[in-house]
Amino acid sequence: MTAFDDLLAANETYARTFAYSGLTGRAARGLAVVTCMDSRIDPLGLLGLRAGDAKILRNAGARVTDDVLRTLVLAVYLLGVQRVLVMPHTDCGMAKVSDADVHALTQKNGVDTRSLEFHTVPDQDAALRHDLTRIRTSPFLPAELPLAGAIYDVHTGKLMPVEMP
Ligand SMILES: [Zn+2]
Repeated sequence: MTAFDDLLAANETYARTFAYSGLTGRAARGLAVVTCMDSRIDPLGLLGLRAGDAKILRNAGARVTDDVLRTLVLAVYLLGVQRVLVMPHTDCGMAKVSDADVHALTQKNGVDTRSLEFHTVPDQDAALRHDLTRIRTSPFLPAELPLAGAIYDVHTGKLMPVEMP
C-alpha cells in the first residue's frame, strides 16, 4: 500500500476507455491559460475546453513569473498558442497573506524561506494588471498577441473580465 494506490487504480479505469490518443502537443484552440493552483478551479471545464485544447500554466496566485514567461514563449513559438488568458480567482489564499506572513509561518515549522519570493497578492486587480503588462511588454512575445485578464469566481463559476482585447 502506498499513498498513491487510489490514483493508480483510477488511472487503470481511465486508460481502459482512453479517447485522446490522436492528440498532438499543440494547443488545438490556440489558447494558454495562466491560473492558480487552487483545487476548486477546473480550467478546462469552466472554459468549455477539453484535453488537447489549451496550455494550462498553474502556480500559486496565477502570477506571471519568469518561469511562466519562459513557458509562454515555448507555447507561442513551438506549440500553437495564439492567445493568452490570465485567470486568478476570488477567495485566493495568496491574496490573504503577505510574503512576510508566509516566511513567519514556515519559520514556525523550522524552515527559513526568506530566499524564496512567494509573489503574494496585496491587491488582486493591480497584480493582474501588472502581470498582463509583463506579458504585453515581454521582448520575447509577439506585441500583437491577444491577451486577456479575468477573475474566476469560485463561488458562482463565473468569469469576471478585468481586461479584454
Ligand atoms: Zn489561488
